[in-house]
Amino acid sequence: MSSKKLADALKMSDEEIESIYKDLLKSTEEDKQVNCRACGYDTCEQMVAAIAIEMKTKEDCARYRKIQDMIVLFDGLQANLQIMVKNLETTVEAYAVISRILQEKAEN
Ligand code: SF4
Repeated sequence: MSSKKLADALKMSDEEIESIYKDLLKSTEEDKQVNCRACGYDTCEQMVAAIAIEMKTKEDCARYRKIQDMIVLFDGLQANLQIMVKNLETTVEAYAVISRILQEKAEN
């Protein structure tokens, strides 16, 4: 069923249906037809209908939760990477200072 037919069936606007798909992080037709059944429905479209009538929430979609988990994971990785870069910069600075001191000692 197209978003328009679903919207008609639920007596909602196309925009309201698209908004639910967007909340579920589904923007392409492929996204809208994952149909993995992890939410208990046979299709993503049925899940959208369940969300529309407030029987389910976006958090009940396994794919949505997985994407959210990955976002949290990537945020953590990014934070760790920034710390590693900072530590590397500090190490390089320290190496430069030590090299200079050793060179000065060698010259004296
Ligand atoms: S869990 Fe999410 S991706 Fe899987 S069928 Fe349900 S709505 Fe679609």
